[in-house]
Amino acid sequence: MQGEKPKVLLVEDNYMNKVLVKEILTLNGYEVIEAQSGVEAIKILATSRPDIILMDLHLPEMDGFTATRIIKSDERNKEIPILALTASAMKGDEEKILSRGFDGYVAKPIEVKKLLEVISASLNAKKEGAKPAAQPSAE
Ligand code: MN
Repeated sequence: MQGEKPKVLLVEDNYMNKVLVKEILTLNGYEVIEAQSGVEAIKILATSRPDIILMDLHLPEMDGFTATRIIKSDERNKEIPILALTASAMKGDEEKILSRGFDGYVAKPIEVKKLLEVISASLNAKKEGAKPAAQPSAE
């Protein structure tokens, strides 16, 4: 909704990354919900509806790939874009990430500009996907 802050679910177990990403997003007009693990993220999604999810790949209990598969298999959540936070964004890894349910990724170490660009592009793509294909012409 316009005027409302977009809500980001940040799934990250590394303290420094969590603080950094939360700071960047808060300063740029986002509301941040935090989860320490994939299991916690799935619990949060039972009662909360974020606009986008940032998912670390290496997490305790359940890795980010598994958590993403579970989240995307749920009708209620599958439209929520999920971006991987990954230190391993080498050639070839992008395809692996995208083939496993993610809508994109942000490479670590996090670059502020890149993070904000990827998030806003994903949110815009989601909005456009929800719109009707053509506007009726005004007569
Ligand atoms: Mn981690």
